Amino acid sequence: DLAALAALTAGDALLPAGVLKRRADRSTSAALRRAGVSDAAVAHVLRPFLSGVFLEDRLETSARFFHLVWRSMVRGSLCLPADGIGAVPAQLAEGLPDGVLRLESPVREITPAGVLLEDGTETPAGSVVVATDAATAGRLLPGLSAPEGRTVTTYYHATDRPPLAEPTLVVDSAGTVLNTCVLSRVAPTYAPPGTALVSTSVLGADRPGTAGTVLRRLAELYRTPTGDWRQVAAYTVEGALPVMRPPWPLCRTTRHAPGRHVCGDHRATGSVQGALASGTRAAREVLADLARG
Ligand SMILES: Cc1cc2nc3c(=O)[nH]c(=O)nc-3n(C[C@H](O)[C@H](O)[C@H](O)COP(=O)(O)OP(=O)(O)OC[C@H]3O[C@@H](n4cnc5c(N)ncnc54)[C@H](O)[C@@H]3O)c2cc1C
Repeated sequence: DLAALAALTAGDALLPAGVLKRRADRSTSAALRRAGVSDAAVAHVLRPFLSGVFLEDRLETSARFFHLVWRSMVRGSLCLPADGIGAVPAQLAEGLPDGVLRLESPVREITPAGVLLEDGTETPAGSVVVATDAATAGRLLPGLSAPEGRTVTTYYHATDRPPLAEPTLVVDSAGTVLNTCVLSRVAPTYAPPGTALVSTSVLGADRPGTAGTVLRRLAELYRTPTGDWRQVAAYTVEGALPVMRPPWPLCRTTRHAPGRHVCGDHRATGSVQGALASGTRAAREVLADLARG
């Protein structure tokens, strides 16, 4: 059993990404079975871990996406930006000339001349790139086929004593929670000194009673009383990831109509990498279209 998983992992780590992209696609669950990974290994380890990556627990997500993610995980290491994920767009924005970026300006509509903002301002634009979530992109660009989204809720608890000393992602084979970790052991900047910040995700929305169930499950998973933990936040993100059923093309064109482009994780893979790859492709395609005139 370990040999089957090791062979799958070695293939994903060593083969060029292009090979993974060209292979026939199937569900992750079918791919694991085909690779000879036992039902027990899937039930106890892979399903609990991967359901936190896919935000679904049937492993119906595209195996192409699974192999690409597995490849990244074995070739690199998991990390969090010290200043939070907002540091990534902030660094991208730093390279722009002054005055070209307008924040907090939601777009209501794409018009033939450009974009109409919610505040009624119209901005003319020959090229428009819609880089929103899939549902909004589907609304702004009629005719776009936008995938449905997966929903996740993350609970944040503060406690004076870290329940685990290591920066380890704990997965739950019972499926009550997706996963949990002491976030401040991964990124010490995420909590003031003397406080541990624990982050725990569950599938779906925050329903009545879920917060209590989560706290009780955390006591079992960390083998420590959690009655005095303080819930500092709970966020539900609808459309946190696109539904990626096979066959899932890992990257698709951003061209929607003349001068109208669309990019984002739903046009590539549901990940920061996918969003960046799709954004890069949009830039290339806009430049090519402008050069053609
Ligand atoms: C809790 C959680 C944890 C995650 N963890 C990871 C992880 O560890 N690794 C990983 O790779 N991925 C992770 N992801 C997935 C990752 O965050 C997404 O795949 C990625 O953010 C998608 O980027 P995007 O640019 O396509 O869309 P988004 O990040 O959703 O950006 C879309 C932007 O469009 C804006 N917008 C929406 N409507 C309008 C409008 N009408 N006008 C103007 N602007 C609008 C929004 O405000 C938003 O800023 C996680 C997601 C969640 C929710």
